[in-house]
Order: sequence, then structure tokens, then C-alpha cells
Amino acid sequence: MQPPQLAGRMARLGTENAFKLGDDIQRCVERGMDVVRFNLGAPDFRSAPHLNEVAVQALEAGRSGYCDPAGIPSFREAVARHVTRTRGVETTPDRVVATPGAKPSIGYTFMTYVNPGDEVVYPSPGFPIYESWARFTGAVPVPLQLSEDNGFGFTAAELAPLLTDRTKLVILCSPSNPTGGVLSRLDLGEIAATVLERCRPDVRVYSDEIYEHVLFDGLDHESILSHAGMPERTVLAGGHSKGFAMTGWRLGWAVLPTAEEAGLFKQININIVSCVPPFLQEAGAAAYDDPRSAKVVEGMVREFEERRNWIVPALNRIAGVRCNLPKGAFYVFPNVAGLCRSLGATEAYEALPEDAKRRTSPAGMLQMFLLYRYGVATMDRASFGEIGAEGQHFLRISIANSMDDIRRGVARLAAAAADRAGFAEFARDQPKETR
Ligand code: PLP
Repeated sequence: MQPPQLAGRMARLGTENAFKLGDDIQRCVERGMDVVRFNLGAPDFRSAPHLNEVAVQALEAGRSGYCDPAGIPSFREAVARHVTRTRGVETTPDRVVATPGAKPSIGYTFMTYVNPGDEVVYPSPGFPIYESWARFTGAVPVPLQLSEDNGFGFTAAELAPLLTDRTKLVILCSPSNPTGGVLSRLDLGEIAATVLERCRPDVRVYSDEIYEHVLFDGLDHESILSHAGMPERTVLAGGHSKGFAMTGWRLGWAVLPTAEEAGLFKQININIVSCVPPFLQEAGAAAYDDPRSAKVVEGMVREFEERRNWIVPALNRIAGVRCNLPKGAFYVFPNVAGLCRSLGATEAYEALPEDAKRRTSPAGMLQMFLLYRYGVATMDRASFGEIGAEGQHFLRISIANSMDDIRRGVARLAAAAADRAGFAEFARDQPKETR
């Protein structure tokens, strides 16, 4: 029951468990445990010295007050040049809005385009904030279930049956959190053609490209914006958090289909944050303009790739674990159905009362066992979209951790996988912590 002082909509607001799990981790740390944080979606690298310097100098020069709520001109120009160059479509600064991180653009898009009852198609597993906003705004969430069989990508043929005359927004995320799946140029071309054919011109595509810099095996980033007809309907969101290791800076941007729509994002900025700090934006512009950035990004991505190349075979050697090789982002997303069965998590879940079942899953119970008994923090499948997640058993493991931590964490996972008695005891003695 919702407390009477709260607005009804608050019961529908979701969360991002990567942050929420912090309380459980803290509890473990207070008990003296050492926790390997495979839950984190933040690069374990510092922001680049040449960018830090720009921000510090701007601060010292006094550029620390309010600024244009749409973003300072040099930032919007740098983003427009970056998008023009990398997506191959002319993009003007009047369609760019600076935002505090890439996340706000998700909520801004729902506020701007989606009415209660409108259908919103989004990838699942996917970034949990899509489903959260869909529920919060009274939209109808339509998850597009991704499969490990095709590397967690999807094709136009899978999207088409989900598009109806009530569809208002289609969300894409490539490279993907949590799966590391990547949509190819061919897939994106066919998806674009399907949207153009099936959807009214007022339907918007939200393309979350926050991981655009983190691609492996020499792949180039591909964007739906590059396809004919798409710049007129796409909200492209990006930012500095992942590719430039600047998660705490809270710096991102959106490119809107028109200057008028960008004006609405600016207006939401005015209503909520007023503006993004100008000294941060100056460094954000330099991230795209300064030639030193490319080397920094390349070095970080090379390390992620080496870690991926180590961890995937190591996970596949654990009985009951099956892991794909992700093509981008910094996560691996192993299937742990076999492990849930062999540890007894599936059985323990089935024995739970109905209301407890609704709060967890076999992978969720495994996640808590790994954390509380083995000091490994992971994220379960349901943390990445709850609707339709029943019967899917995955964990997300972030490789934004040192190789030492990755080795330690995987060794603990392997030990936990062999500890059926420990799981039974955990489920019996600490029922609260299993959910
Ligand atoms: N979109 C996706 C797919 C993400 O994984 C994240 C962060 O984890 C965000 C958006 C939010 O990025 P930011 O930290 O820049 O707000």
C-alpha cells in the first residue's frame, strides 16, 4: 500500500539495482568482508589529465556560474561535429542539448513524446531505466526479448510484430548494457526501414549510444542515425561517462530531430537542473576536439578487450555457466541456468511463498549467495527489465575492474559453484538476504 502522502505515480517508479545493491555491499563490508564489485558500470580508469586540466583552468578563470540551459556553444558545436563525423550526417548545434549525464535524456524523451497508454518498445535485457520510465509515465511497456543465440542482437523481423498503431517510441541500445550485444549496419538499416514502413512520422526512435567508444575486435560504431529518414525521427543520446571514464562528471548530450524539439529538452533542463556546469562542458568539448583523447580511449578499450578475452573462457570452464563473447561495452552476461539448478537455487526458488517469488528469481538468489557468502557483487537478469524475465537466468559481470579483481572474483565464483551445501544453508538461515 502506497503511503497517503505520496503521489500515486511513485509506486510505479523503478530503479537501477546497480546503485541499489550498494546497501547490501555496505552491509557485507561492515561485516569485514572484502567484496569484488562486478556490479559496477563505471570504468576503473581516471578521467584523462588533459581534460581535467581544461575543467580546472575554466574554473580558475571564473567560468563557474549559470550558463545557457541548452549547453554552451562550444560544447554543442563539438558534439555536432563529432556526430556529423562519426554518423555521416550533417548535424547542427541547434539540435544538440547538454544534459547531466546520458541518463536524463531517457526521462526527457518520455516526458516529451509519450502519453499514458502509448506503447514503448525497448530491449530486454536492457538498461532498467527504460522500463522504469515507461511504467512511471503510464506508457505500455513492450519488451523486445533478446536472445543469447544471436549474440543479444535483434533483427527487424523480431521488431516488426511488436510495432502497432499505438507504438510511440522505439528504444535501441548498441553496444548494449547489460549484454555487450552490438547491432550491425545491416541490422540497423533493416530496423530503420521497418520503422519507416510501419510507424507514423511522429513515432520517435531513442538511440542510446553511450557505449559508442567501447567496441572490440576492430568493430566500428554503427548508428541508426546514419540511415535515410532516421535523423528526422531519432533522439540520439551519448555522453562522456563510459568512453572517457567520466561517470562522476555527469556530462552527456542529446541530438534531437529538430531545433524545436531540442528547445523542449532545454526547457526540461530549465525546470529541473537549470544547466550543466560550464567548466565541465568545456572539458567535454575538448574530449572530442583534442587529438590526445583518441589514444586515451583506445588504451582503455584495449584493456577491456584483454579482460573480456580472459574472463569469457574462464567463466565457460565453470560447470553450469555459458557465456557469449560480447562485442562491446564492458560487461559479460553469462547464462547461469545450469548453475541455478546444480546449486539448488531453482528448487529453493520454487519452494518460496508466492509473494517472495515475486521479489526474486533463481538468479537473484544466486546473486545474493555470491555476495553474502563469497564477496562477489553481480547483477541478476531481472535487474535489466522485469517484464517477461521469468525463466531467464543470467548474471551481469562488469569487467570495469582490474585484472587482479577479475581473477579473484572468478575464483570465488568457481568455488561458490561447487558449494551446494553452502547455498542450502544460506537459503535456510538468511531468507531475507536471498531476495
Ligand atoms: N544508458 C545506458 C545503456 C547505460 O548503461 C548508462 C549507465 O550505466 C546510461 C545510459 C547512463 O549514463 P550516464 O552515467 O552518462 O548518465
